[in-house]
Amino acid sequence: MNIIKIKDLTFKTFIPEKEILQHVKAVAEEINRDLADKNPLFLAVLNGSFVFAADLLRYITIPCEISFVKLASYQGTISTGEVKEVIGLNEDISGRTVVIVEDIVDTGQTMKRMLETLGTRNPGSLHICTLLLKPEKLQVPLNIEYVAMEIPNDFIVGYGLDYDQQGRQLRDIYTVVEP
Ligand code: 5GP
Ligand code: MG
Repeated sequence: MNIIKIKDLTFKTFIPEKEILQHVKAVAEEINRDLADKNPLFLAVLNGSFVFAADLLRYITIPCEISFVKLASYQGTISTGEVKEVIGLNEDISGRTVVIVEDIVDTGQTMKRMLETLGTRNPGSLHICTLLLKPEKLQVPLNIEYVAMEIPNDFIVGYGLDYDQQGRQLRDIYTVVEP
């Protein structure tokens, strides 16, 4: 087991790269089967999903396209609190089979917001593919068709996921060690 420190927190190895890739391959194979004749457009949500998206796409063997979007937080009115806006979507998604590629679904609020925004642009169908899901934290009903791995509630970093912008380049996934 590998122990690392990022800023004030200590993390230990949780899911090694080799195991991650087995799960990524398995989820890619499900998509290859389900969406074979759909020419899906993968929409990766930056920043966290950049490593997952790169590995996932290289296990996809059917015709497909990929593009990238970002969720920008801005302060709404006091009543609405923080609002997230989808930016960078230049593709015409009308009629397309769209697969949202996300790093982790926690409460599900981010995915809900993505589905609402993309839903206004007349896609043929919308699918969610996430590397990680924390099932115990999910607050909103979501149909998450493609989940590479389910994990407990602990905070994790690595394989694209950050702690205060650090640790995205780690090959393995690490979980926080309680002090
Ligand atoms: P949600 O809207 O589902 O609550 O949160 C999703 C977002 O929260 C993810 O895209 C990710 O940015 C962040 N997040 C949730 N859990 C974790 C975690 O364990 N580690 C990291 N690095 N980010 C997380
Ligand atoms: Mg994310």
